[in-house]
Amino acid sequence: MRLILVLGDQLSDSLSALTTADQSSDVVVMAEVMAEASYVRHHPKKIAFTFAAMRKFAARLAGQGWQVRYSRLDDPDNTQSIPGELIRRTSETGAHEVIATEPGEWRLIAALRDCPVPVRLLQDDRFIASHADFNAWAEGRKALRMEYFYREMRQRTGLLMDAGRPAGGEWNYDSENRKPPPGGITWPGPMRFAPDETVQEVLDLVAARFASNFGRLDDFWFPTDRDQALAQLRHWLKGGLPLFGDYQDAMLSGQDFLYHAVISVPLNAGLLTPLEVAQAAEAEWRAGRAPLNAVEGFIRQIIGWREYVRGIYFREGPDYTARNALGHHRALPQLYWGAPTKMVCMAAVVGQTRDQAYAHHIQRLMVTGNFALLAGVDPAQVHDWYLAVYADAYEWVEAPNVVGMSQFADGGLVASKPYVSSGAYINRMSDHCRGCAYDVAVKTGPGACPFNLLYWDFVARHAERFQSNPRMAQTVRSWHRMAPERQATIRTDAAAILARLDLGEVV
Ligand SMILES: Cc1cc2nc3c(=O)[nH]c(=O)nc-3n(C[C@H](O)[C@H](O)[C@H](O)COP(=O)(O)OP(=O)(O)OC[C@H]3O[C@@H](n4cnc5c(N)ncnc54)[C@H](O)[C@@H]3O)c2cc1C
Ligand code: SF4
Repeated sequence: MRLILVLGDQLSDSLSALTTADQSSDVVVMAEVMAEASYVRHHPKKIAFTFAAMRKFAARLAGQGWQVRYSRLDDPDNTQSIPGELIRRTSETGAHEVIATEPGEWRLIAALRDCPVPVRLLQDDRFIASHADFNAWAEGRKALRMEYFYREMRQRTGLLMDAGRPAGGEWNYDSENRKPPPGGITWPGPMRFAPDETVQEVLDLVAARFASNFGRLDDFWFPTDRDQALAQLRHWLKGGLPLFGDYQDAMLSGQDFLYHAVISVPLNAGLLTPLEVAQAAEAEWRAGRAPLNAVEGFIRQIIGWREYVRGIYFREGPDYTARNALGHHRALPQLYWGAPTKMVCMAAVVGQTRDQAYAHHIQRLMVTGNFALLAGVDPAQVHDWYLAVYADAYEWVEAPNVVGMSQFADGGLVASKPYVSSGAYINRMSDHCRGCAYDVAVKTGPGACPFNLLYWDFVARHAERFQSNPRMAQTVRSWHRMAPERQATIRTDAAAILARLDLGEVV
């Protein structure tokens, strides 16, 4: 008799630990524990989602005939750690072994390896590329660029392939995407689910135990079981997907979701699988209900980016999150935790994050990520923030996006250039600048947009490193061509902003 461990982001019937188990004799163990709920100060909506989805999945397994030992957070005997619960359940049941699917975080893998009860770790085959597949692709390559990995994934899955060629003749239709924000939005946003009894019970628990964590708990609407996740996906395929590509990078005040799928929360928890999601999107294009630029863009995120970042996380090893190639050491400014700011773009994204535990890709990359990188914030602190505040954040997916793509702290493994921009980009892609106390057109002096000042200050600070980067060299040359007096003014103004951030003053 064995224990079958099912973690909070492993809520899939197809989980390797479950498909390996013998339902007639093995016992499923699931546990809400403080060690997992508090290793960063997770957003209350993230904790509520996880516990609610776990409770519902445990009930589903029990309904299928599994024996399930489920530990609630407030059970008096709960040891409050995964290894502790495995030891407790072993002595209760007399089990001799634990079978687990590999967790998505080095920290937990180490905890299971060190557990006094023998734990057999199985591959997580809910992903399209195994570690071996990714390593075989990466081996011997000078640069691990996602685009080439993605093409292999297309060929391997057959998604958007016609007789061995990419559908429509191109691999990538991004040139048709990335339009500035539309005048109005025709999709009402993700399907919302009113809390049922299980969710309400969890909301009460989270309200009582995690009230001081950053983030609003009220207005909880995430899907928390597979049926709801599928309903949400179908709702988006019909209404959101057709315009997803066009406005993928746009940002509009008061519009938290635009045409985004908002499926990373159920997908990362295992309520949906990447292949079924990508296939459902392809079917919309084949049926003529969604254009190729939207469908290809979406499928690239799922079978390209999502699989690629996972490959990077496991290939690079546990020290990845500690990398700091640019030597940035500034403390994360308090405005990331909701302290007042005059920057409308930052206030919008942080406010939305506080309310929804969600922001879309460009908000994460080109607003909060961009600002942290320009300001030279310690990437480990940026990583902790992203891991805490987004409901879809698990280290395997969050760390390469933050440490690699957003903060360039891996020295250019994931991103071929740092994702930095002045205010002009935010102005082009959003409506935030119109109502801002700063002027996006002003480059120096009082009222200058902080993104403008910090952008050139960043280029100046890292000119030596980036002058030989083909995608940055032109920018570095522009800096060097600038008049020395202008350079001096930019650097003085930028230093003043950074000093005010360090003092906790409103910027
Ligand atoms: C700094 C930063 C941090 C991020 N942290 C996370 C995170 O913790 N968890 C997470 O799932 N995604 C993360 N992403 C990727 C992306 O922002 C989110 O997946 C996306 O915003 C989720 O919203 P959505 O479902 O509406 O996505 P859509 O825009 O509708 O995209 C569809 C799906 O594609 C996948 N996807 C898209 N881009 C990526 C990517 N770069 N990496 C992995 N999957 C991707 C997601 O599963 C997403 O649900 C991060 C990106 C950045 C720049
Ligand atoms: S002016 Fe600058 S700080 Fe203000 S919203 Fe625009 S980009 Fe953000």
